Amino acid sequence: MSVSILEEFFIKRSQQKKKTSPLNYKERLFVLTQDKLSYYEYDQDKGRRKSLRGTVDLQKVKCVEKVHPEHHAPLERLFPFQVIYDDGPLYIFAKNGDIQSAWIRKLKEMVRFNKDLKQKYHPCFWVDGQWQCCQQEVKQAMGCRVLEGLAKHRKDSRKPLPPTPEPPIQSLPPQPPKPVASVGMTVIAEYEFTPLSVHDLELRRDEEYTILEMSDVNWWRARDKYGREGYIPNNYVVAAGNVLERYPWYCKNMNRSQAENLLKKENKDGGFVVRDSSKAGKYTVSLFSKISGETAGSCRHYNICTTSQGQFYLADKHFFSSIPELITYHQHNAAGMVSRLKIIVSNRAQPPSTAGLGYGIWEIDPRHLTFIKELGNGQFGVVKYGKWQGQHDVAIKMIKEGSMSEDDFIEEAKIMMKLCHENLVQLYGVCTKQRPIYIVTEFLSNGCLLTYLKEGLKQHPTNIQLLEMCKDVAEGMAYLESSQYLHRDLAARNCLVDCNGTVKVTDFGLSRYVLDDEYTSSEGSKFPVRWSPPEVLLYRKFSSKSDIWAYGILMWEVYTLGKLPYERLSNQEIVDQVSRGMRLYRPQLANDRVYSIMTSCWSEKAEERPTFQELAVNVQDLLYEFQ
Ligand code: ADP
Ligand code: MG
Repeated sequence: MSVSILEEFFIKRSQQKKKTSPLNYKERLFVLTQDKLSYYEYDQDKGRRKSLRGTVDLQKVKCVEKVHPEHHAPLERLFPFQVIYDDGPLYIFAKNGDIQSAWIRKLKEMVRFNKDLKQKYHPCFWVDGQWQCCQQEVKQAMGCRVLEGLAKHRKDSRKPLPPTPEPPIQSLPPQPPKPVASVGMTVIAEYEFTPLSVHDLELRRDEEYTILEMSDVNWWRARDKYGREGYIPNNYVVAAGNVLERYPWYCKNMNRSQAENLLKKENKDGGFVVRDSSKAGKYTVSLFSKISGETAGSCRHYNICTTSQGQFYLADKHFFSSIPELITYHQHNAAGMVSRLKIIVSNRAQPPSTAGLGYGIWEIDPRHLTFIKELGNGQFGVVKYGKWQGQHDVAIKMIKEGSMSEDDFIEEAKIMMKLCHENLVQLYGVCTKQRPIYIVTEFLSNGCLLTYLKEGLKQHPTNIQLLEMCKDVAEGMAYLESSQYLHRDLAARNCLVDCNGTVKVTDFGLSRYVLDDEYTSSEGSKFPVRWSPPEVLLYRKFSSKSDIWAYGILMWEVYTLGKLPYERLSNQEIVDQVSRGMRLYRPQLANDRVYSIMTSCWSEKAEERPTFQELAVNVQDLLYEFQ
């Protein structure tokens, strides 16, 4: 059986293969594997899949797109999307926009090399023998809307869109895509977790837990095998059905550079990890070896290949029905590789950040903080490195009095706490009962990205390394985008780098609470003019598309290793020239493809700029081509 890449409960609309067949909507468990999208009936009581109800061969997919929800759609049908293949559109309804986008993105990524991909699609439903968007009455009628990605190159075929309104800030960000999870299910701890508050439950790696309650986006109530109950961070566990996560050699979310860094640091001949390949749904074995007598070893990367029958193999053609079996074999036999897989290298010693320091806690007792050293000085004052409860690393922003509208920020902090993603600097909590107030966040040992680019890189960076930095930022921003949260001050100075070289975005939304005219007024000397698009410089119009512009500038900072954008120009000259169409030049380290991603962020018309989700896919595609 192939490994499942995504699983989710969706509502599926009946396919109305005959004009007279009635429409119905049923909940199904959708499972995406390397070559199929299948849906099953699900037995809620027993918590397991029942019969297979249908399958779409991914090779036959011609288009995956959103659909406009129906008029007065019920709550459970607000986030539809369509998969177009032989038998015509399959309509699927996701629980929220985040899950909808994640599936569309993954599916698009997986079918992007298919033959006969459609260039046009129908943005509305096919109902009772008619397309609701264009009133055509033939089901096979050509789509009436050009696909988003293509529209940029076909300006003539598209009417200009109205300007994008600023999205409302949601009170609760949607949940990132997680394996199918439901109350009653069994999960396995991937990391150790020591309770941070009296409400939490200890997690021991590889042990099983039963989920009791899932009302919070980041913390679930669970029971261990001794009957103890409490809250656990849900990014520390995986559904018991997810096979690979159970193995110590599997490092999810690890990219090529990180695998190389980890293996080189371990410096053991035959050290290996298995990681997600840059090609979606595939896996790569990264292996470190030292030829006898050599002091510095080298890394090789082997893609795990699959046969059309769903069997796995590595360098030589020894076939296995599962990846764990393949790894076990190669732990004993080199069979075509530079060495056998001798030593499991694991990154599990370093667990991800939790959304806060314990369930429901956002006010932190300052007596639990110790200050160790000063990290820097920013817009709000001094930032220090310290420990919480004597053992957890934290960064503490001590907010200089008069520099922030504190009450508004404190309200917002409750929402910011819920934002939890591996490429966002986690807000842990605040100390508001004293002055100055403190903002307590995750600590990243390699500091600010801008400084890291200028002086922190040990060797000249490879193209892959630079692209991976851009990818990290795009992923973090795509999560913010899916939570409809604007950054408003995205730049290399507002990104930080952790001990593995992962880049995380910080200070999102904070600029709204700055009390300093030099910073907040677009004429002020501290306003981020160099990161702002024409519509912000001219009309102060912030939107997700102004964040996209700033992302293009940030990419340019990455590829110039931290140069100041428009180095020689004053703020006023930048306003004049950028609004007349002048753009930054191509950095030497950036090839045409990379530069074209940057320039796509600098379209004069905001609506022609891509989304972060599209950027993340574009950067990922390039990464794949480099490897
Ligand atoms: P502000 O947002 O108030 O302007 P910054 O976030 O720029 O302040 O912080 C000032 C400096 O402190 C940064 O340039 C960085 O070097 C350091 N710093 C801030 N936050 C962290 C953190 N979480 N981990 C490590 N270093 C940090
Ligand atoms: Mg900052």
